[in-house]
Amino acid sequence: MRGSCLCGAVAWEATSPLEVLHHCHCSRCRKHHGAAFSTFGRFRRDGFRYTRGDDRVKSFRSAEQIERTFCGDCGSSLEFRVAFLPDVVWMAAGSFDEETTVKPDAHIFATSKASWFDITDDLPQYEGYAPHP
Ligand SMILES: [Zn+2]
Ligand SMILES: [Zn+2]
Repeated sequence: MRGSCLCGAVAWEATSPLEVLHHCHCSRCRKHHGAAFSTFGRFRRDGFRYTRGDDRVKSFRSAEQIERTFCGDCGSSLEFRVAFLPDVVWMAAGSFDEETTVKPDAHIFATSKASWFDITDDLPQYEGYAPHP
């Protein structure tokens, strides 16, 4: 999978397959994405790299164990780094530049969802993170 930010300054690639996609309804994702929820896809950290503009990537620690990266020029969301999951990288699915047949399989932090948004599909909803395989 390859991806990039809105302005194109930053591009990335992951050589391992996209494993899962989750919709996150936590209030921090809502702020960061400016939307009802975020969608992040998980890849192995091994094989992930920035192919362009890694010097433009900024990061913000949104919680003790969580660091979010984004393009310093256009603000596009990129990584969601979890300190206690060092082997994986979660990438903002909106940055994907290639098609995938993987579909989201969970709503996480569903109890924090925006009051103005209704979840209308049948995917499992978790109060916190989904159980990791
Ligand atoms: Zn950008
Ligand atoms: Zn979230």
